Amino acid sequence: METDPLGIRFSHHTAEVRFRPDVSTVDIIDRAQVHRCASPLSYAVFRLNEYYSISSIEIDGVRITFKQSGGFVAIPALQRDKSLMTLRYRAILPSKGESYSTPSEAALTAYWLPHSARLPATSTITTLVPEDWRGIAPGRAVSSVVAGGLRRTTWQNDLPVSYISVAAGRYREYETHKDGLTVSAWALRATPKQTERILETTANAIRWFSARFGPFPYRRYTVVESSVFPYGLEGYSFTICGSQTLPDIIPHEVSHTWWGGLLPNAYTRSLWNESLASYSERLYERQKRGSEAMESDSEAQYEGRNLPNDPPLDTANNAMHPGHYAIGYQKGALVLEQLERFIGSERMLATLRAFLAARSPGSAVDWPDFVAAVRKVNGPEHGGFLDEWLRSSGLPEYALGTVTAVQKDGDYQISGTISTSSPVRWCLLPVVVRTSGESVEANVRITGSEKTPFEIHTKSPPTEIELDPAGMALRRDGRVRQPINRL
Ligand SMILES: [Zn+2]
Repeated sequence: METDPLGIRFSHHTAEVRFRPDVSTVDIIDRAQVHRCASPLSYAVFRLNEYYSISSIEIDGVRITFKQSGGFVAIPALQRDKSLMTLRYRAILPSKGESYSTPSEAALTAYWLPHSARLPATSTITTLVPEDWRGIAPGRAVSSVVAGGLRRTTWQNDLPVSYISVAAGRYREYETHKDGLTVSAWALRATPKQTERILETTANAIRWFSARFGPFPYRRYTVVESSVFPYGLEGYSFTICGSQTLPDIIPHEVSHTWWGGLLPNAYTRSLWNESLASYSERLYERQKRGSEAMESDSEAQYEGRNLPNDPPLDTANNAMHPGHYAIGYQKGALVLEQLERFIGSERMLATLRAFLAARSPGSAVDWPDFVAAVRKVNGPEHGGFLDEWLRSSGLPEYALGTVTAVQKDGDYQISGTISTSSPVRWCLLPVVVRTSGESVEANVRITGSEKTPFEIHTKSPPTEIELDPAGMALRRDGRVRQPINRL
């Protein structure tokens, strides 16, 4: 299993990355702090993207034999609890894809550093690029020197993360400073006006998320434009974004500093942090439209139409697979919005903060850790919300049972039950009763039971009842309504 380290784990990388855009190569020396861990094997195994060919490996200065095959590297079992591993390797990079090199930019994104089980590590990375280029790696720049036609910049990241990337290119650099934070844009094609919007969107998103989730852990954040990479790339002190995605993608990428950075995702089990980043992005867009209340958003049922049934949220783990992508990004965000409707916006933010507060640096987290935060903040009566939403396929269906209306003390009492497909997914379900006068709306809390009774009072004679006419609940498509017959 990729989730278990086999005899070795990496805690810190001190790497030198030399890009040679004239020949599309990258040469890397990684001096990694490694730790021995339990393994049933007589050797240790780690992973490195198969692009790279390793020329040598030393453990504590002694050259060792190794076998590289596919994305795996086997070495003799470590003799000490803690060692320094020096790995020299290189690649000829393609002109597009996850890692690339062109005459104007280059990047390494897909597991270009050795790792086991994608566990989080800190890093000190030096980029070596032509002097008219700039290179960036996670963390803060601790030194930058130009000599012999090369620009050499060292970046230190004290936040252990699972996903480490590097970018370099012939960028134009712009920046703004506010409240102790520097926001930079490294632009290739973006016009000065577009760059201004990039800086503004980034600064706003950082400020907005910091106020709600907790302090931003860096003093600087850089948006790196790419003409090659078509999406946004998760980063924590910087992000690489395709020209056409800017500036709209920025809030999502900025939120990864919390969902992926402060709380790392090893990406071996689920895309939980993409669910949280997509949710955060939608939360941010909602406030830009002037509303923090879920009530203004009624797209859940409509958006749910396009979701595949499988896999369940807690096993969608491959961001490159369209079905997993739809579940991890879109269904995840929709389910979190349903949770927010259920517990309220304030408790939702408190839950996110509790999730962050429970972090233990160096460990990756997953859905069960988020569920623990939901339970802790919201108590048993709200804490079970995610259980079935995470492990079930497809969407639930809610139906009306028998509904009766009786006239009582001058008003009408409408009572009935809502039945739920199994397994029961918790939901705050709007119910609307239409009358000869105005409509009356109530919210019914669906929790653990397949049949939920409800009671609604109206002043005028009721004529019809409908579940969730605005489509706010995430449920299987279709109108659910019936006439009301008065007894
Ligand atoms: Zn993302």
